[in-house]
Amino acid sequence: MKDQKTTLNCSFCGRDKKDTEVLIAGISGHICDRCIIQAYSIVNEELHHNEKKELSNSLNLLKPAEIKQFLDAYVIGQDNAKKVLSVAVYNHYKRLTYRADKEIELDKSNIVMVGETGTGKTLLARTIAKMLNVPFTIVDATVLTEAGYVGEDVESILTRLLQAADYNVKAAERGIIFIDEIDKIARKGDNPSITRDVSGEGVQQGLLKLLEGSKVNVPPQGGRKHPDQKFIEIDTKNILFVAGGAFDGIQRHIARRMNTQTVGYHSGKVREAVDEANFLQYISPQDLKAFGLIPELIGRMPVLTYLSPLDAKALKAILTEPKNALFKQYEAIFEMDDIKLEIEPEVVDYIVEKALENKLGARGLRGICESILTDAMFEIPSDEEVKSFTLTLEYAKSKFEKSNLHNLKAAS
Ligand code: ADP
Repeated sequence: MKDQKTTLNCSFCGRDKKDTEVLIAGISGHICDRCIIQAYSIVNEELHHNEKKELSNSLNLLKPAEIKQFLDAYVIGQDNAKKVLSVAVYNHYKRLTYRADKEIELDKSNIVMVGETGTGKTLLARTIAKMLNVPFTIVDATVLTEAGYVGEDVESILTRLLQAADYNVKAAERGIIFIDEIDKIARKGDNPSITRDVSGEGVQQGLLKLLEGSKVNVPPQGGRKHPDQKFIEIDTKNILFVAGGAFDGIQRHIARRMNTQTVGYHSGKVREAVDEANFLQYISPQDLKAFGLIPELIGRMPVLTYLSPLDAKALKAILTEPKNALFKQYEAIFEMDDIKLEIEPEVVDYIVEKALENKLGARGLRGICESILTDAMFEIPSDEEVKSFTLTLEYAKSKFEKSNLHNLKAAS
């Protein structure tokens, strides 16, 4: 009879030594190759799960409706863009934080926002990054060039994000990059050009690689790639790219497309319903292509939304309502010197009127306010007697009319 003590079994599955490929001995037991593999995958899954849990704790991920509510506190109007962004951001980060279903791989939801300058594109992206507590950087597409040409390589975008993340690669890998002026790298004309187009199509090609998700070697200090520089590898798979641009003249493409589509049955009716003042609301990926973005790039930014031009009512609200509205900021500045700032209601209308005249959207508001208030901010803090300051229409007019902003307009 065989001696019981010489028969070795796996202490986990009980398999006999002869039925295993490898049986490893421990202090008081054994483990076979199959159990090791199984245990390894359990450990891996668990670690991965913990990592995702940690990520979801640090991310502050709200539901889409809550994201929109958060945006409402900082950004006036732009409901469509807010809704579309909320869903895209929610899905993007959900994809990072939940156990992935093995069969369905969720694609990235990079975003394009089309809208005139100063309508809140950057503000929206910045506010979302603030809400999520992820690194955020803004890059201007116009400074990028194809590798080998004067200008910045597209990888420099990642350097910026890495710097915004204090060189924490993991944090950078789930950050948000806002690419401003994406319309400026459109190729000229709808036909692919045979000649090299340094500032346009080549850059779009360069961006593809980053947008689709790949491992990129990034020079940590920026600058041009250099053979003996150390690189940091960044995986762009989970970086959310938001591109914005004014796409001047894209309305023409939209109108043309809609005209051709509406010819025929019921065309009259459809046309009636079209709001010609704001064609942007009908924007579709075809229009971006007609404008000169290459189809591959458009395909990698599947979420498209628009921002409406800001009217007087919106500009007025921007001055007074958001959490960090300009007027609230000025009040806070004066308050630091124990001075109460009061702004008469007519001044708001006056500033809005001037902002509409200079056509810079909300971007112009700050400059106008500065031109009106600089003297007061210079003089009043030194005057111990002054405890309050009321900004009247008369005062506002007199200061603005002496300013460069006013003179510029008069000269143009
Ligand atoms: P864009 O990126 O569309 O050119 P920004 O987002 O940079 O414009 O806007 C410039 C400034 O104008 C912002 O810092 C913000 O103060 C203000 N602003 C623009 N649009 C809005 C808006 N819809 N709501 C609140 N503030 C806005």
